[in-house]
Amino acid sequence: MTLTDAAHGRTTEHRWEPPAALSATDPELADLLSAEAERRATSLQLLAGENLATEAVLAALAGPLVDKYAEGYPGHRHHTGCAVADSTELLAVARARTLFAAEHANVQPRSGTSAMLAAFAALLRPGDTVLALSLEHGGHLSCGSRANFSGRWFDVIGYGVREEDGRIDLDQVRELARAHRPKAIIAGAISYPRHPDWAAFREIADEADAYLVAAAAQVTGLVAAGLAPSPVPYADVVVAATHKLLRGPRGGLLLCTGELADRVDRAVFPFTQGGAAMNEVAAKAVAFAQAATPEFGAYLQRAVDGARVLADELALAGARPLTGGTDTHLVTADVAPLGLTGAQAERRCAAAGLMLGKCAVPFDPAPAAETSGIRLGTGTAAALGLGPAELAEVGRLIGGVLGGAAPAAAGQRVRELLRETGAAG
Ligand SMILES: *Cc1c(COP(=O)(O)O)cnc(C)c1O
Repeated sequence: MTLTDAAHGRTTEHRWEPPAALSATDPELADLLSAEAERRATSLQLLAGENLATEAVLAALAGPLVDKYAEGYPGHRHHTGCAVADSTELLAVARARTLFAAEHANVQPRSGTSAMLAAFAALLRPGDTVLALSLEHGGHLSCGSRANFSGRWFDVIGYGVREEDGRIDLDQVRELARAHRPKAIIAGAISYPRHPDWAAFREIADEADAYLVAAAAQVTGLVAAGLAPSPVPYADVVVAATHKLLRGPRGGLLLCTGELADRVDRAVFPFTQGGAAMNEVAAKAVAFAQAATPEFGAYLQRAVDGARVLADELALAGARPLTGGTDTHLVTADVAPLGLTGAQAERRCAAAGLMLGKCAVPFDPAPAAETSGIRLGTGTAAALGLGPAELAEVGRLIGGVLGGAAPAAAGQRVRELLRETGAAG
């Protein structure tokens, strides 16, 4: 299998016209989708969790398995006519296991959050104590938010990063593990630009007799490409996502030891969901094959190199990249030194077609709706073919806009960059 679009960095699927069947049946919705296609052709998507699903993935999503009910697992379905569904899921599972060198894979979760729910269900009971990175320090809402099952049904103790260098404070994790004896420790984050020390987390978990769960959705693609250390040898369960750097369908993925395979499978179905979306399972199989190609590795290397120069440019512009830079596709930066809140920075950049997100920074003094930081990622930009040179320019454009430059001129340049990639037609 080839991934030609990523190889030369162009995506034809970025351009979108409503198919005749849709515009004829539902012109109102066709117009809405056309407006979204126009929006993304004229602005640069820099949200860290977003990417462009490849054409092959989109084709699998729209294929005949969209209609198939296949509750259960291959060979043990509650519905008839599942021969192809079985082969498809077995193929996806085999590819995931090979790609991540995992003993077991479950490809059915519909999202990262539902995969995390299944991981909790496989290992824990409501009321159990869990240690996780607190949300203000980069944790995901499925790792302890009071508004989410995790914080509502579990006793989640938050650890954080060190104030001086923004790195995860492993001494604090160890102390909290000794003091609280958690049943599980969650490592991994939604907005932390460095690689977690999986081995250190394993050691702490072993000492506390706790399970180690890796929240690896943000970096699943980097792990697949060998550009981030894999949590698979260390974690009991790895919670991953297929729609972020992997350029697959929106969905979750669980990897675990053979020993936990049955518990994880039962936690996904029937505990957290009924029939899996078999078209998504098919599209995940495509994404796993794509991710095994050298072209995919080259694509993500471009994303990581681009993120590094972007962080440098933001620093030159007076923002403060957290941890001083990045090892991944993700950059988080404190914009308070520029006299801005995260929400103000997000609005200014959006006016210039630079679509990044506000983000709380550790020890953030600003209210949660405002924040002091921004978070951005280079997955989509690299998929469009933008490399370090272009992303350095994007960093200068962001820095300029944050420093008060007129958004119109920056927006003009963003549209030119997109046209050069072929994305904007
Ligand atoms: C993206 C992400 C999730 C959630 O994924 P959804 O598919 O949006 O539910 C959970 N945890 C981490 C660490 C993530 O990066």
